[in-house]
Amino acid sequence: MDKLDTLASKVAELIIKAKRVVVFTGAGISTESGIPDFRSPGGIWERFDPEDFTYQKFVTDAASRSRLWQLFRGLATTAEPNPAHYAIFELYRLGKLDSLITQNVDNLHQRAGVPDDKVLELHGNVQWLVCLGCRRRYPFEQVKARLDRGEEAPDCEICHGILKPDAVFFGESLPEKVLNEAISRSSRCDLFIVIGSTLVVYPAAYVPTYALDSGAKLVIINLSATPLDGQAQVLVRAKAGEVMPRVILKVREKMG
Ligand code: ZN
Repeated sequence: MDKLDTLASKVAELIIKAKRVVVFTGAGISTESGIPDFRSPGGIWERFDPEDFTYQKFVTDAASRSRLWQLFRGLATTAEPNPAHYAIFELYRLGKLDSLITQNVDNLHQRAGVPDDKVLELHGNVQWLVCLGCRRRYPFEQVKARLDRGEEAPDCEICHGILKPDAVFFGESLPEKVLNEAISRSSRCDLFIVIGSTLVVYPAAYVPTYALDSGAKLVIINLSATPLDGQAQVLVRAKAGEVMPRVILKVREKMG
């Protein structure tokens, strides 16, 4: 067995022994699907102005809205789930997923098959748009058709209010109900697995500490260091898409 297999085997043992497994994912799991991390070199911040992602700018500046529409259009149409997303779906199928908390807005966990009611989206989901006037929600596909016809910043068909991707912008707070549910699930789990998050974006990054405080074991699978590395039972510095399928293989072997 190589080093990665040994680590995968350790993670698999923890999964089998655990009664309630919570998985927490961040941008790192989706970079392998071609979605750039906002902060890495070549990431979105180098091509877009972070100012455009503030709620204030979005609602007051039409040019800024047009730029964002181009970005969201790209995010929502080109990416496919990768082996790490499918591995988490396998965990669910094996009855080993209590809940999946994600910082991502790309809908790739659901596209890989994880049911909506298992996914807690701390930062929303760009597959939906919400009218800031009447709160009506539109599927992105419907609005994308209007973008494709040349509209620069589609508005609400009913009240002509501003349509905003249903993702959390800077200057907006996290959806309280989702955050509370994430904290509650984390406080009750006995194994917490971080995949592809550097745990630096707050308040989302506080969530794993609720699991630690209530005595859960922690696994971290991430390419770079995180502030909680020292508290992890197993720490894997590798790509999620390489590690997670091996973990599932080991879980299946050990479960017989
Ligand atoms: Zn409206």
